[in-house]
Amino acid sequence: MMQADWQEFERAHVWHPYASMQNPLAVYAVKSAAGVHLQFEDGRKVIDGMASWWCAIHGYNVPELNHAIEVQLGKMAHVMFGGLTHAPAALLAERLLSLAPSGMKQLFFADSGSVAVEVAMKMALQYWQAQGRSEKTKLLTINHGYHGDTFGAMGVCDPLAGMHHLFADMLPQHYFAEAPTAQTDDQWDDSQISSFRQLIEAHHDEIAAVILEPLVQGAGGMRFYAPEFLRQVRELCDCYDVLLIADEIATGFGRTGTMFACEQAAVAPDIMCVGKALTGGYMTLAAVLCTANVSAGIHADGHGVLMHGPTFMANPLACCVALASIDLLLASSWQQRVQAIEAQLEQELAPCRQSERVKDVRIKGAIGVIEMVDSIDIEPLQKQLIAKGVWLRPFGHLLYTMPPFVISTTELSQLTSAMCDVVT
Ligand SMILES: *Cc1c(COP(=O)(O)O)cnc(C)c1O
Repeated sequence: MMQADWQEFERAHVWHPYASMQNPLAVYAVKSAAGVHLQFEDGRKVIDGMASWWCAIHGYNVPELNHAIEVQLGKMAHVMFGGLTHAPAALLAERLLSLAPSGMKQLFFADSGSVAVEVAMKMALQYWQAQGRSEKTKLLTINHGYHGDTFGAMGVCDPLAGMHHLFADMLPQHYFAEAPTAQTDDQWDDSQISSFRQLIEAHHDEIAAVILEPLVQGAGGMRFYAPEFLRQVRELCDCYDVLLIADEIATGFGRTGTMFACEQAAVAPDIMCVGKALTGGYMTLAAVLCTANVSAGIHADGHGVLMHGPTFMANPLACCVALASIDLLLASSWQQRVQAIEAQLEQELAPCRQSERVKDVRIKGAIGVIEMVDSIDIEPLQKQLIAKGVWLRPFGHLLYTMPPFVISTTELSQLTSAMCDVVT
């Protein structure tokens, strides 16, 4: 098929994320990608300010990552993980557990972030069942969260921005506390946690786990909150016999300035989900890490097994490229890079604060967010950005970027000046 033909076909037959088939938003065909650039079929080239939804931390067409996949491809692309195992899974597990917050001892490989969240919830529920406390079936979280699109995960997404209104009758009912508004510990006072405290005090007998995105709430509103909140959540969980699940799917692998966002609060969860940047954006893979207490607890009644097993569990190509991506990250000066990106975002997006159309500008690590007073008309804004050589995908009131860590100063300036131009 000619390019014009396949694009027409796909417009009529292929769904895009959160899209209408009747009246789809414009989509842009990408021919190839290298470094921080996407090359469109029509010849235009844009800087990817989204890192393909947090994933492509090293950019695209990365020789080391290509090589890792090519080598593994010559051995085997995939084998089932039921009754079989392989070096890529073992080596990646070793690397992940050694990087993770202290106490993480076992892990489960899932095939996407949402599935990892399902598995994390299952771990928590099975843990309490095996302790003879099967009444602990609820989760506690905060508003404005995002944990994925499968049913279990949807049940803990923000009750207003999420999909509760569509599936109310089918979603399990969980507890939602007010999200903290303090963005840093300087702004902290204990009223920030009172809603959360009330809920855990009143309902801990039914609560299996708290699930949170540590410090940065991503797709639920691009909000940042004070590490003190996470520290106090950890204390309350310990006090009331509730497990803590850290969803580090967006924040993991350096994005917020530390390898995992939990580290900034010096908090170790009981269960932790990673995904997105795990493979450097090459393949779909996620993992659920847990403490020895959780894994032993699931088997406390002597015969418990963790009831999950995806077909493509621990896919060898994905494990290999994840290992190569982590090694590449560790060999780079990623901390300095993320700090430099943070400083540049702060400096170059700051002028937008003057605009009366702009409600807030916030920066954390390699994440820059402009929150507008009014909601954004996505299609025309995206057109303007592309004309300035930049790929971003605004939603709601938010124009934001989380670029690949390898972006140069000049490229980042092009990105930030495009952002400032279109909002002011
Ligand atoms: C993206 C995301 C998920 C879901 O991951 P998928 O791979 O899209 O299923 C879950 N939690 C957080 C925090 C995420 O950012």
